[in-house]
Amino acid sequence: MERNITTLGIVLHSRRWGQTNRRLKLLSVDLGIVDVVSYGAQKSLKAVKAEVFCDGQFFLYHNPVKGDYTLKDLKAIAGHEEIREDLALNYTGLFFCEILIKVHGGENAAEYRLLSKALDLLTTAPERRVLVLIQFIHRLSEVLGIRVDLDRCPVCDRAYERDEIVYFSSSAGSQCCQQCANLERTLILPPGARRYLSLTATMDFEEAVAVDLNPGALERIKAYMLGYAQYFCPSQLTTLSSGLL
Ligand SMILES: [Zn+2]
Repeated sequence: MERNITTLGIVLHSRRWGQTNRRLKLLSVDLGIVDVVSYGAQKSLKAVKAEVFCDGQFFLYHNPVKGDYTLKDLKAIAGHEEIREDLALNYTGLFFCEILIKVHGGENAAEYRLLSKALDLLTTAPERRVLVLIQFIHRLSEVLGIRVDLDRCPVCDRAYERDEIVYFSSSAGSQCCQQCANLERTLILPPGARRYLSLTATMDFEEAVAVDLNPGALERIKAYMLGYAQYFCPSQLTTLSSGLL
């Protein structure tokens, strides 16, 4: 394997490592999610600054004996500093990072593009934060290959009525009609929310985030999507319990 690797990536997580170093989790197009040590990042002004949400070209060194990666340099495309300065935006960004760490399925380039766009939108359209959150989960379900069409039940193949409420089947792992459902009390999708998700499924991220929802619908769809995200995530999402999303 090449010792020097250059890859597009985004820092998902950063923690202290020893006295002066940091250990990063990097979502990279070429390597997937890898741990990278940034030496001297804690104190030295000269050290490469790779903070959480930083999107850029990462220059790594791979030690084939130890099997680890070291950060040599970084050419930032977007630092997304604005996200860290606002509590709700920060938690939303951290939620994106946490869920990607937990559900990462090897679709490196698609996951990178999704997160990169989501962080850009949080930066450029912070007032549309909740819509970015909803659309991130909606799009992630497609990247993970678990999204189903919301116009018919995937279990019995019956088309939904216009005003039909859609339920959830944990055995199918998807939305379905009431007859096929086994999770009737959770993950209930009202018709308006279903039409919104259906309508925005084929739009690009930016376009979908520009679609307005009234405040009530926005909160209902957000609650549904957060429940859905927790459903497809294999372990408890700690950023969800903050109550700040
Ligand atoms: Zn059905």
